[in-house]
Amino acid sequence: MRAIGRQALKCAVIAFAALAAVGARAEQSCPDLNRAYVERYVPDFHIDPAPHFFDIDLDTHDNFRCDGRDRNHLLARAIGDLDSWRPFEDEQTDFYDMLKLILSLGENAIRYTSSLDKDGAGTRTEAQVFFDENDPSRSAVFLTDNFFSNGKRLRPTYSLVHEARHTIKHKLLPDGRALPDEPGHVVCTRGLHAGRGRKVCDAVLDFEAQMAFGSGNSYEFMFLVFVRDHPQVPQPIKDEAQQHLSYLATHMFNEIVPGTLEHYGVELIPKADW
Ligand SMILES: [Zn+2]
Repeated sequence: MRAIGRQALKCAVIAFAALAAVGARAEQSCPDLNRAYVERYVPDFHIDPAPHFFDIDLDTHDNFRCDGRDRNHLLARAIGDLDSWRPFEDEQTDFYDMLKLILSLGENAIRYTSSLDKDGAGTRTEAQVFFDENDPSRSAVFLTDNFFSNGKRLRPTYSLVHEARHTIKHKLLPDGRALPDEPGHVVCTRGLHAGRGRKVCDAVLDFEAQMAFGSGNSYEFMFLVFVRDHPQVPQPIKDEAQQHLSYLATHMFNEIVPGTLEHYGVELIPKADW
């Protein structure tokens, strides 16, 4: 009995050690997140602290409330996700570094505005990229109240990845080389938005090598695959990623290259559930 008990205990200890090694990582504590936001995220992501754009009080923003309602906290948590979930396999994209680079190009910035109604139809836009007409290399990702109040844990994070992609227009790398412009969205011909004339879809859901040339939905999709498969991401967030992957594949691409859904492990949403 004792030998069996000891063996069982040994197995349990080994199993626990293995779990601890690859298990989900707890979220950053509020003070840690505050510090990272002030010291790195605000400068790295070119967050514009001007009060009329974003209600950060520079004297106090190292004391934001971690209650899920403070805009600075929600933006910090989104960037904190990118900071926490670094590549776990060779040749994966480091999304923190990628967004940091993108947001340093030209005079990119992240700004706040209470709401946007670009098409005049009352569309509840969460975030939008605008370019300076006089100097198209200047652009900003505007985040609206809807970005901060949609209630979904992962949504601000993948929205940032999506919008950052849209800023790659008229941009030069630090060494002066021109970057190819992102292709932009196309009018949807598949899924929920088909027939509505809405230009919110990407042209093709393709394999990884081609997705790098896609628009915002392609980058959002690749980020969600990375999150879903990441060993340190908590299960509820992986579940949200998987659910949103299905949404994107069903509604946000006009064409699906055969074999890609199986490759990415994503199922389409049956039409009855749209
Ligand atoms: Zn977009």
